[in-house]
Amino acid sequence: MEREKKPKRPRGRAGLIPDKCIACGARCQSACSVDAIEMNAKGEPVILIDKCIGCRKCVKICPAEALAMVYTTEEQEILRQLDQLDREAPSEDIDAEEAQLADKLAQYKGVWVYIESTDCVPAKVSWELLGVGGQLAASLGTELCAVVIGSHVEALCAEAFAYGAVKAYLIDAPTFQYYRTAPYLEAVYSLVQKYKPEVVLMGATGLGRDLAGAVATRLGTGLTADCTGLAIDERRHLLQTRPAFGGNIMATILCERSRPQMATVRPHVMPMPARKQDADGVIVREEIMLKEEDIFIKILQVVSDAAHSESIDIAGAEFIVSGGRGMMAKENFRLLQELAEELGGVVGASRSAVDAGWMPVERQVGQTGKTVRPKIYIACGISGAIQHLVGMQDSDLIIAINRDREAPIFEVATYGIVGDLFQIVPAITESIRALKAKKLKQGTICQT
Ligand code: FAD
Repeated sequence: MEREKKPKRPRGRAGLIPDKCIACGARCQSACSVDAIEMNAKGEPVILIDKCIGCRKCVKICPAEALAMVYTTEEQEILRQLDQLDREAPSEDIDAEEAQLADKLAQYKGVWVYIESTDCVPAKVSWELLGVGGQLAASLGTELCAVVIGSHVEALCAEAFAYGAVKAYLIDAPTFQYYRTAPYLEAVYSLVQKYKPEVVLMGATGLGRDLAGAVATRLGTGLTADCTGLAIDERRHLLQTRPAFGGNIMATILCERSRPQMATVRPHVMPMPARKQDADGVIVREEIMLKEEDIFIKILQVVSDAAHSESIDIAGAEFIVSGGRGMMAKENFRLLQELAEELGGVVGASRSAVDAGWMPVERQVGQTGKTVRPKIYIACGISGAIQHLVGMQDSDLIIAINRDREAPIFEVATYGIVGDLFQIVPAITESIRALKAKKLKQGTICQT
């Protein structure tokens, strides 16, 4: 017997819930693809009912949940009937669609880490990613694999095994001597198409950001940049946590309906895993049929950036003495330099100090600066805004010096000193000097 045709599910129209809009800056209007939203003088949306197609994009993007779908009385009645029918006989269409999707997603297995290298020298972030990748693979009950692409880079596979990978996909050819988006995209894309990994991780470096974006776009899958936390939930989703809305909240992002799940992570955010000297793994060699003449970008000359080659990498420093607006002037950073020298460390800065022109931008710590993970981080005259904290809160030991005992920096500090930094910093430097002099006299430290 032919089944009675179900009525079509009404889509409804978007509607504003009174008093809930926070005038976030017209995110709903930008999300609307049919120009059905205008903004009033208060920064609230006005929905043009004739134009709205009920796509829900604005409802989903609203950070204040101030938009909802509204239905006419007739539409509400159809929805009620449909719900009733679904309860009596669950929709076969939806079940079939979901089952098809589940089958498709289940084909994807394995956690992959892209091993970034320049002139055969690996980027340390790749090993950090193998560390977190190993935990994800264990949660998923799958294998951790490395993706090594370059020219004469086979040795990196062994190094990847030492940091936990059990398999390495290797593409080793002269075409890949220097990074160029097109051939690297082709290489990663074809590996993913062939082997279907569930998760792909890359460093949030210049190269990693470029490659990850290109690969995710070509695959039509999701990518979360600059993650600060990665985990797996009970439905095998990669939970990708990162600061959002100017660092005021931490958002956890999921990629529910496409694979692989892709994320980039900045250097020094994840801890380095232990290195196992004798670890072994399987190398899977692959070739990409690419002719040099088919690649539009040619490398004519490689010019090393001499101006920056001697600049200090605060991201890799073990001791950092950072100054903020409380330093009051550029010349006062001399105090921090003296302390940093005694510790064998470097000077960092908050964004306020950088914006004031007291320190160069490459010394900035935080969301829009560098992420650091030193053994000791000394924050001097820094209030501890969330955008600063995300860049340094994983340091092994944090010492905060601030004259305001309520400053948020004390919430993440291991030791807090409430007082005037202009007295405290020179006193610490002097104490270290005195201690060193004493030990030198006793012959317990060597002078270099
Ligand atoms: P303030 O907040 O002004 O704090 C100065 C502190 O010095 C105060 O706590 C004060 O009590 C203390 N002080 C003053 N005099 C003395 C003294 N004599 N002795 C001891 N203590 C003293 N900020 C970053 O740092 N890094 C980033 O990457 C970053 N990215 C951002 C991205 C976005 C999108 C936005 C919106 C902001 C970002 N910020 C960033 C800025 C951030 O919000 C803060 O404005 C900034 O970190 C404040 O810098 P500060 O702590 O040096 O200055």
